[in-house]
This record gives sequence, C-alpha cells and structure tokens, in this order.
Amino acid sequence: MLLTDALLLDYKRCQRRAFLNTYGNRQQQDPERDFLLKLRQESQIHVEKVLLEFYPDYQRPEADLSNPKALAQATEVLMLEGVSCIYHGVLLRSHSFQGHSIDLLGTPHLLIKQPGQSKFGDWQYYSTSIQLGRRPKPEYKMIAAYHADLLMSIQGVTPKTAQIILRRHHPTFVELDIWIPRMQETLFDCMEMLVKKQEPEVFISRQRCSLCHWHTHCYTIAQSQQHLSLVPGITPNRYESLQTLGVFTVEALAATSPNNLGELIGLEVASQLQQQAQSIVENRAFRKHNSSKHWPNIPNSPIEFYFDIEAEPEQNLDYLLGVLRVNHLDNTQIFYPLLAEKTEDEKIIWQNFLKLVNTDPKAPIFHFSEYEVETIKRLAYLYGTPVSEIYPILARCVDLHQKVTQFVTLPVESYSLKSLANWIGFHWRDQGVSGDQCVCWYDQWLKTGDRNFLEAILRYNEDDCRATFHLKNWMSHFFLDS
Ligand code: SF4
Repeated sequence: MLLTDALLLDYKRCQRRAFLNTYGNRQQQDPERDFLLKLRQESQIHVEKVLLEFYPDYQRPEADLSNPKALAQATEVLMLEGVSCIYHGVLLRSHSFQGHSIDLLGTPHLLIKQPGQSKFGDWQYYSTSIQLGRRPKPEYKMIAAYHADLLMSIQGVTPKTAQIILRRHHPTFVELDIWIPRMQETLFDCMEMLVKKQEPEVFISRQRCSLCHWHTHCYTIAQSQQHLSLVPGITPNRYESLQTLGVFTVEALAATSPNNLGELIGLEVASQLQQQAQSIVENRAFRKHNSSKHWPNIPNSPIEFYFDIEAEPEQNLDYLLGVLRVNHLDNTQIFYPLLAEKTEDEKIIWQNFLKLVNTDPKAPIFHFSEYEVETIKRLAYLYGTPVSEIYPILARCVDLHQKVTQFVTLPVESYSLKSLANWIGFHWRDQGVSGDQCVCWYDQWLKTGDRNFLEAILRYNEDDCRATFHLKNWMSHFFLDS
C-alpha cells in the first residue's frame, strides 16, 4: 500500500476523502472543476516564481517519473553528492503496520542543504514547501513534519527545521518538536483506517465539501439518508452530541424538546437546531425564537438598488459591479453591469458606480453579504473617494443575509443566496454556475477575448441581483405577516 503526503493531507481535511481516494470507485468522482484547475496553475506559477527568485540553481532527480522507487534513489544520490537545492525530490520509506507493508512517500517542493552532521557527511537537508495560502495553516505544518520525519530516516538525523514559503514569499519555520508527534498520531490513525478499510460516515460540510471531487457521490448518500449534516448549524461536535442523545434523523430532531438537548449543546443552540429541523420537516419559514422583540426594519422606497459584485481574488480585483435599479413608481427594472473589460478599468467602474447610486441619493442599496460593504470601503480608499461621499452610501446599504440569518429560519440546507432564492421560487437562467466559475470565465475572457465568457458572467450577476430583489420582497411580506 502507498501512503503519500497528498493522501495524508486529504485525511487531515476529511477522513472520508482519504478513504474514497484509496478505495472509492473513480467513476463516481465529479469531473475536474475549472476553478480547481485554475488554482493548480496559479500554485505552479507561484512555485516557479519562488524557484527563480531564491533557488535558481536547483537540480531535479532524473529517473522515470512513474517510478517512485527510482526517483527516491536518484534523490538520495543528489543528497550524497551534496547538491545545494533539490527540486521535487522524492522521499520514500517502507513501514510495517499491523502486519501490512506501507510505502510512505513524500515529495517536498525543495530539499535544501545546510551545515550539520548526517550519514552523507558534514551536511544535511531540510524540506521546504511552497504554498499559495496566506497563512501557515496547521495542515501545511503537519505535512512539513511528515517530510521531516521521512528525511530523518533517509539522512539518519532529524532536520533542524522545516520551512514553508507562503504567497507573499514570507518563510515560516515549523516547530518540529511539536509537529512531528502530532503528525505521527494522525499518520497512525490514517494507516489504521486504511488497513482496516473503515469507511468514515458521510458528513457534508459546505465549506469543506463544495470543492471536493466526491461531492456529488457523498451528497447523494447524505440526501438519501436525510443526514443531519444537511441541517444548517449541525457541526461535527453537535452531531456527536445528538447521536449520544439518540437523535439520528431530522424528524427526530424536530420532535425533540430543546430542554433535552440543552444540557449538551446549550439551550439557545438546541432551540435553534430544533426549529431548523422543524422548518425542514414542515417546509415552511419560521420567525426565529429569539427575534420577537427586535423585528428588522427593511426599508421600502420608490427607487431601490440591488447590488452584487464579481471579483478576481488572485488579482485583488473587483471587475463587475452589478446594480439592478428598481423603480416602483413606473414599475421598471434596469440592470447596470459596470464591467471592467480590462483589469485597469476598475477605477472607471467605481466612479460609474458612485454616479449611478448618487442619482437617487436616498434609495437603499440591498446586497447579500458583507463583501459589498467591504468592497465599497476598499475601492473608496484605493481611489481616494472622500469619506464625506462614502459614509452616506454605506448608511444606505442593507445586508439581507445578515437580516435573514438573524430573524428567520427557512427550510434550506444553507443560507446562501442560491438556496434561499430557490426556495422562494427564483431560478437562475443558467444552472450550475457559481461565483468560482465566473472567476475562471473572466480569466478566459482576458486570455482569449471571447465575449461569450463576459456575457455568461453578466447573466449570472444580473440573476444574483434579481434574486436579491426577490428575497427582499419575500422578507418584506414575511415580516409584515408574522
Ligand atoms: S464530499 Fe465532503 S464528506 Fe465527501 S469526501 Fe469530500 S470532503 Fe469528505
């Protein structure tokens, strides 16, 4: 059996994913998503930039790329020769575990020579991994510790450190005395799961699962089981508590008294979860238990703006400021797609946005996340818009996501705009499109000049604005009737 650093990383993020990557039916995987492909390309560009800037004289082990053993031997030869920097070296160790032979394999981006004793002479190596992230996440540290542990068995001595180079090229050094024991515990659990073929239960977590290539497979299972992880607010810890109390289904949760659950998860959380389950079982919206005294003010105005942004995070660029202007007096709705066809046009679309929203200086600006307000602040700062002009605009912004999550419980699997708007009957013209996909399309537009990509983005963004409008109408009626 082969256990790679990538598989261990999968295990750290989701044990089930590591299991499926080893034993799952690959035909059940989702096709590769454009967004993941883009991330991989960006990651490779980042690695190449770091190599060029800091380690231009690296050497690579030369061997058949499909033969890890030959690559590991070629890496060891380079280490024995005392090469100063090895790119894409392969570290391999055979390990006996509960009667099974497991090949542990790691491919750190770099192995860097430093002074110190090892079986090779008066030098040794430490590993460096180059990551696109901005923070040294625990999983990066764990994989760095895994490489250090493999290096130890190859050079006969534990490296003094391990390095992680992040997006801004800042190096971080990993405390190996803390991270090697933690990694060994995780490695032990991972090997045990694999040799015993223990398939971990499905647990859908939106953030973790949305980019996973097993998503459709796992989600189908979760839906067929009406799994509790599909209920918003159920975290792995809360799920465990519910299991302890014998609550296994959404119906059971809906029928349970919050007082029974309160001891383990707190009365307020228990009460919210019970109401969430009840909402799903009865397929209707509820006013939140704790919201009775403070009913929100959702402004109604003759003119209203609905605002949604498309951004390219890699370039820190907000390239589309989509605004739907709704005039209730003459019953018209006009969509204004303020689009930067070139990345340097962001300033122009920002100025056009200011002009547009200032045509009706009292009109509320509805949006569906904190991002729009954060972007208004960022663009104002970047392009020197006076505070006196920005404060009145910020005061007109109404975040419907904040209002809905604070005051209403709905029969949905998540409180995303898509889930909520779908439930109230709004449907996007193009199915299966997401903000991630738009990032890829914008990239494609910049590379190819094909306007079809822009048109698809505009359709998606306009539908986001219209969905926000529908949600606002629904909320106004709901608050009025409740
Ligand atoms: S979809 Fe979610 S639960 Fe399934 S393997 Fe992927 S991350 Fe794990």
